[in-house]
Amino acid sequence: MRSDALSYAGCEEPHFLEACTLCSKPLGHNSDIYMYRGNKPFCSQECRQEQIENDEAGERRWKVSSKKSKETSKKSETVQTGTLVVSN
Ligand SMILES: [Zn+2]
Repeated sequence: MRSDALSYAGCEEPHFLEACTLCSKPLGHNSDIYMYRGNKPFCSQECRQEQIENDEAGERRWKVSSKKSKETSKKSETVQTGTLVVSN
């Protein structure tokens, strides 16, 4: 009966907070845990800050690439017009 109680307690233990998202350092119950976006635990502010910067860099890359594709289409229009003038 005792072993049943123990295994039940083991099943109830949450496992999603057991390691830092960035460096995979084990997170103890007595150590500080820094949460980010509600579900990502980190062992330190440095690790969390790095994850935030990674996410922001990814979002910035998206914006830059969409801007670039607009510039590229403008340039190719200019090239096409120039080609037309030359062939005429
Ligand atoms: Zn960490």
